[in-house]
Amino acid sequence: RRDSHWQMQVAAMGSDRRLVHLVDRSRSAAAEKMRVDFVANASHELRTPLASLLGFIETLEDDAGADPALRARFLGVMAGEARRMQRLVVDLLSLSRIESDKDRLPTATIDLAAITRTVVDELRRSDPDRGADLEIDCAHAIPPITGDRAQMSQLLHNLVGNAMKYGRAGTPVTVRLEPGDAGDVTLTVADRGDGIPPEHLPRLTERFYRVDSGRSRALGGTGLGLAIVKHIAERHRGRLVITSAPGEGTTVTVHFPAVQADPPTLS
Ligand code: ADP
Repeated sequence: RRDSHWQMQVAAMGSDRRLVHLVDRSRSAAAEKMRVDFVANASHELRTPLASLLGFIETLEDDAGADPALRARFLGVMAGEARRMQRLVVDLLSLSRIESDKDRLPTATIDLAAITRTVVDELRRSDPDRGADLEIDCAHAIPPITGDRAQMSQLLHNLVGNAMKYGRAGTPVTVRLEPGDAGDVTLTVADRGDGIPPEHLPRLTERFYRVDSGRSRALGGTGLGLAIVKHIAERHRGRLVITSAPGEGTTVTVHFPAVQADPPTLS
């Protein structure tokens, strides 16, 4: 049917055998659009700080370079723009690495509680003020799960980092680990910030999707943090759920399955 999203591809295989291949055209068209949008968005995100850097370089080359106070101020702004580009490139590379790994399931056995403690310590050190509001709630023994240590650490960094950024200063950020009945583990990161209006929730894990772009940029966000979290959770066969009550706060949970007895097979 012409109006169908499905396209049947028939290829001859030998004289009497045929391979019938169904391709979901709507899905591949959507994937292609996502790819094109992604390249456009990434280029735009890099172009803005780059234009600003070039502007400052030109100004410094002219008269402003002679004034030491102005020069120092401009260099400070330039360093900020360069760091913004660096964060973006680091996140872009992480995303592409995680995506290229996606069909290879992690094989190591990891201790999520130990990784959580390490990440929380790192975040406390990097931001002592807000870090004082971080609480770990881990009352029970947490069973080992199958995972990639570095990726799990990144998932925690992104989620706890967001809760610190978007939560209100002085209010707690809680990181909870709970064992399930079957060796599974649930991670919960909760803050008491302004929350997220419900219409945004379904799109938060899209690359470069932000509720408030100005606020995200001012806080050093790249707009890729939750896209990275989603890909890491998927690679670990985890289930990611984001809930939020505007005015009260946001809660992100990731449920990880138990260690598989047999090596997992990809479906
Ligand atoms: P960013 O680098 O902008 O923080 P993310 O992908 O991590 O990018 O998050 C996407 C958007 O989701 C953010 O810009 C912000 O608007 C919103 N968001 C993420 N976490 C929270 C949170 N804990 N509370 C409120 N809003 C959040």
